Amino acid sequence: MFPTTIAGSLPKPSWLAEPDKLWPQWQLSGSDLAAGKLDATLLSVKWQEDAGIDIVTDGEQSRQHFVHGFLEYVDGIDFAHKVEMGIRNDRYKAMVPVVTGALTLKGRVHGAEARHARAHTKRKLKITLPGPMTIVDTIADKHYGDRVAMAFAFADLLNQEARALEADGVDTIQFDEPAFNVYMKEVTEWGVEALHRATAGLRCATAVHICYGYGIKANIDWKASLGGEWRQYEAIFPALAASRLTEVSVECIHSKVPIQLLGLLKGKDVQIGVIDVATDTVEAPEDVAATIEAALAHVPRERIIAGTNCGMAPMRRDIALAKLDALGKGAALARQRLG
Ligand code: ZN
Repeated sequence: MFPTTIAGSLPKPSWLAEPDKLWPQWQLSGSDLAAGKLDATLLSVKWQEDAGIDIVTDGEQSRQHFVHGFLEYVDGIDFAHKVEMGIRNDRYKAMVPVVTGALTLKGRVHGAEARHARAHTKRKLKITLPGPMTIVDTIADKHYGDRVAMAFAFADLLNQEARALEADGVDTIQFDEPAFNVYMKEVTEWGVEALHRATAGLRCATAVHICYGYGIKANIDWKASLGGEWRQYEAIFPALAASRLTEVSVECIHSKVPIQLLGLLKGKDVQIGVIDVATDTVEAPEDVAATIEAALAHVPRERIIAGTNCGMAPMRRDIALAKLDALGKGAALARQRLG
């Protein structure tokens, strides 16, 4: 009951990449970098095991950024001539690469770290991939001329990698779609269909993570503009409940999302965020257990997975590890109290 997991990322060791940054520069290169990424993957798995996390991830140690870590392995993209684009409906400006030709995968994207993690843990293993809608919201297009067609092309590449990850022994494949909270109409029009293409043929657990972002200033300002109640989930949960995905990962603790909206996810496993990544204050196990208890009024107990609101990549390492510990202890407390 109440298995635990994290959204996906953990801070990178300072010998691997610049600490405390969302877009860190690697500190190694060539074969040293490749080996360093695997060493950090193993460290991430160990940290999670020690904290009592049940469904562990690779900590996203092998990617510089959650979207561009995938794009680096795609042919048909010009990274040399980036253009400025407003992303997440103009919440922030970013220099983004440009799609200039038909998209194909260069090879395996996360095979090395997935197999390395699989070889060193007996726990369930989750690997995350960026979702198609979030990808097309983070890249410019000079080839497809149609956002949906480009999203479906990316979805087919994601499916290719996802099938290979499943064959590597991955138990859960999670697609990160923060864009779903921004383009709610498009989620029902084509966003869920794009995820169906990305998950076609998979038998493992398939999750979508939809959050209100890392604790960076642009997100904090955006959240301040959303009013007293955040009801974005209300517009998209019915479509997700009707989808073929098995699991939905949502933000919960310290969020202005009305908790009863979780009741709209009937039939899905729900990964509820019980750790806030937008503050350095470490949750007490008591806070974690209380959040699980609040969700229990709207989600059947066997469908609750306790997780983090979002990734912890840009967080200070000592704080992230303390939060990981609080997650494990809090879920244990909830099992004891509510079991
Ligand atoms: Zn997130």
